[in-house]
Amino acid sequence: MYIPKHLRFTRLKGKGRALFANKNLRKGSLVVKFGFDSVKSCRDASPESVQIGENKFLDSTHYYASDYINHSCNPSTKIDFAEMCFVAVRDIKKGQEITYNYLTTEYDMAKDNLDFECMCNSKSCVGRINGFRYLSKSQRLKIKNQLSPFLMKKL
Ligand SMILES: [Zn+2]
Repeated sequence: MYIPKHLRFTRLKGKGRALFANKNLRKGSLVVKFGFDSVKSCRDASPESVQIGENKFLDSTHYYASDYINHSCNPSTKIDFAEMCFVAVRDIKKGQEITYNYLTTEYDMAKDNLDFECMCNSKSCVGRINGFRYLSKSQRLKIKNQLSPFLMKKL
């Protein structure tokens, strides 16, 4: 698996695999390419898949660096769907984790038993991560500028 030099891959106790900045990264910069190699009509098995339509998921049969980006309710990146990459939403310091908010792409994770209790410890933590559909109007509006085109239509 290819990991760009400005990133570092680690296994964390209790959290599993994670991706960290290996140098300071500027807000707006490309952090990592969004790696995928297949499009599926349902989310069969792969929790790393990313939803782009009602029944459309980008999935990977190989492991890509971007598969190890964990969720945070106060993430350091978002997906740029025009460029198909993860872009820094704030300055990221060397040693900080690369994260993105799964709720900006996934509509209903509970349906696929992929919901989980968030441990991001941020002030804006929503707790149970079960999908965009379960967020309140104000929670949806807070992440508006990070939403995928698919979820933007559901706003
Ligand atoms: Zn959280």
